[in-house]
Amino acid sequence: MLLIYCPYCEEERSELEFRHGGDAHIARPTNMADITDEEFQEYFFLRDNPKGLIFERWRHIHGCGRFFNAARDTVSDKFVMSYKAGEPKPDLSGAPTTTEKPAETFETTEGTAQ
Ligand SMILES: [Zn+2]
Repeated sequence: MLLIYCPYCEEERSELEFRHGGDAHIARPTNMADITDEEFQEYFFLRDNPKGLIFERWRHIHGCGRFFNAARDTVSDKFVMSYKAGEPKPDLSGAPTTTEKPAETFETTEGTAQ
């Protein structure tokens, strides 16, 4: 079972208590009435889908109910850290990630298909 640390409850809880809330640190345009449809589409709909470290919003829906942010590795599904909403994006550029290892595929474990 995956455990997620809630920075408000200050304890790890089961993933079943949480709900994903999308990407964190999305900046809303300050001139919303003046932007083009393409710029609005970019802001509102388009998100990166990186392999490795990602910053996301989460909600402790079956606990304190509060939103917080978390850094998660999309390869290992490991939560690197959680922090309260409104806190700045932490610099994790030196943090080790599992993306440095090659992904486990059929070819790396079983060889080439015949
Ligand atoms: Zn909580």
